[in-house]
Order: sequence, then structure tokens, then C-alpha cells
Amino acid sequence: MRGNVVGPICMLALAAWSAAWAQNVKITPLGSHAGELCSRDRATIFEDPTGVRILYDAGQSVTGAEDPRLGRIDVVLLTHAHGDHIGDQKMKGLDSGTCDNPQLVSAAPNSTTAEIAAAKNAALVMVTPLANFIGRKIETIRGKPTAACGPPESDLLAPFAAPCLAIVQIGGTRLVKTSGASKAVEIATVPAVHDSTVPLLLMMEAARKALEPDNVSFTLGPPVGYVIRFTNGLVAYLTGDTGIHADMQTVARDFYKANLIELNYGPNALNPEGAAYAVNALVQPASVIITHVNEGATSGGKVKPTSRTAAFIGLVKSRPVYPALSGKTMEFDGAGKCVAGC
Ligand SMILES: [Zn+2]
Ligand SMILES: [Zn+2]
Repeated sequence: MRGNVVGPICMLALAAWSAAWAQNVKITPLGSHAGELCSRDRATIFEDPTGVRILYDAGQSVTGAEDPRLGRIDVVLLTHAHGDHIGDQKMKGLDSGTCDNPQLVSAAPNSTTAEIAAAKNAALVMVTPLANFIGRKIETIRGKPTAACGPPESDLLAPFAAPCLAIVQIGGTRLVKTSGASKAVEIATVPAVHDSTVPLLLMMEAARKALEPDNVSFTLGPPVGYVIRFTNGLVAYLTGDTGIHADMQTVARDFYKANLIELNYGPNALNPEGAAYAVNALVQPASVIITHVNEGATSGGKVKPTSRTAAFIGLVKSRPVYPALSGKTMEFDGAGKCVAGC
């Protein structure tokens, strides 16, 4: 009698465990050098359990649309227009140059963001001026206008037949779903404290010539971060480039209840103490991914003890910090805990 009861319960537990296992979000950094966290690394791919695949800030550490690591991309996010995010340059080849100083070539006039979105038929979830700027580049690449993805109030259904614009303002959200999935991934834009001037080399000649004498450029709307609510419960706060700001607490923690932060640790915006304060006091996530470190932070996949990345990690309390190692897929459960690949 007892065996008859325990058996099915064990089977149920096993089924629940394997269902939970399949419910992880896969996060794969695409950096310049396999297995390391390097100075130009920004790009990250997020894959929801329903299959929605999101590229966050294509940047310079990819080889362009042909980069074999990209695979299918449904959504392209872009936090601001700076060259290291929009991708004014790209890798000459995977692993070319050194981790401190990767070898790059120009990606002008298209940018890696436009190249990839055009090739992958991706939806661009970004603020209006950025979406319009990238949308025009995609139009030039494809020879036809880049249309809106659909009305803002309806779910975006991936995969898409053509690249499209899903314009948002700060605070705005878009829902993206694969056909057949019962739940959608929610992507929200949130504030960042930074700027968003576009590299002159990505502008057409007339505008570039007019601005060059003054050594200034256009600002393409406000810089943003993103909060992504995945279908398994994971809430990832992607800071974008930013200094410390109060919305890290009020928006990312209090409202969205982010349980994972991917922190951009640019040295001209955050020092180790500031970055640790953002994590320990303001956002208080379950886990931290650190990227945009502007140094060759690792050797053999281990953080160098004398790096500023190590200084930050030493100040973070009560939660793990994972360096965004290129090509290493980490899996996170709905509570923000890394359950594989960390
Ligand atoms: Zn920036
Ligand atoms: Zn940056």
C-alpha cells in the first residue's frame, strides 16, 4: 500500500522538477573573446522558455549580422546611441585582438544594430528617435520602408516576417509572444542617467558635414534601461549605461521587483562603491550579472584579482555576482537564481 502511494508521488515530484527545469531563462553574453569578460563586451541574448529570443545592445563585440553565435533573434533592444551600443564598429573576427584591446573594423554606415535587425527580421523595441534612426538604416539595407510591428496595445507575435518598429517611450511596455505560447514576455523601458549622442560616422554626409566643425552630434532621445518580465517569473533589470539614480529603487525594485540585475559598470559612470550601492541598497536583486567593464576583467574565465571588476564584486553583499563570460549560457529560474552554467 505504502509503495503504491510513494511511487506516484515520486513521479509527480520528478515531473514537477523537470517542468521547472524547462522553465529557465537562458542568458548568453556575446563578447569579443570566448569564455572571457573583455573591455568592449556589451551584447547579451536572452531566451525565454517560450522561445522568444531578445538581443540586448548589439554593440561592437559581434562580427555583424553573420555572427554565427546570434541564431534566431526576435527582438532587438538598444538603450542609447553611443557607438559601443549601437555598434559603429564590429569585431574583425571572433577572438581577434586581445581581451583588453579587441580588433575592430568600421560598421558604418549601417551599425551592427541595423545590420542584425534587418537580417533577422527583428522587432525594434526602443524609444522613438532611436527606432526611427535604425528603421531608416534598415530601409536602406532592404530597399523598402520599415513598418510598425502593430498597434501598441496588442501582443507582438514572433517570429516576424520582416523587421519592424515597436516604438516605446520611457515607462512604456511591449508584449512579445511566440505563436502557441499562453504567456507573453513583457519588455519595459525604464530611466537611465546618461546621454545618447550618435557617432558622427553613422550619419549621412550632409548632417555630418554640418556638425563636424563644432565637434558635436545629435542626441537621439533619452537613454534608457529595460526591465524584462519573463514567463517563468524572472524579472531582469538591464541598467543600460547609467550612474546611480533613485529609480533603481522606486522603479526596478519597488514596482517591478527585479530579481536579477545586469549592470553596466562603465568607469566614467560608476565607481566600485557606487555600483555596489546600486546593487546592495537600491535594487537588492537575487543575482547580479556584471558587464560593460571596459577592461579585460578575466583570464581563463576567472576575474583578475587586481581588476576594478574584482573590487566591485568584493563589495557586493549576500548575493552572487556573475561576470558576463562570452558564449557561456547561464540559466535562471523565476526567483532570479542561477541554476545552470554559472
Ligand atoms: Zn554610453
Ligand atoms: Zn557604453
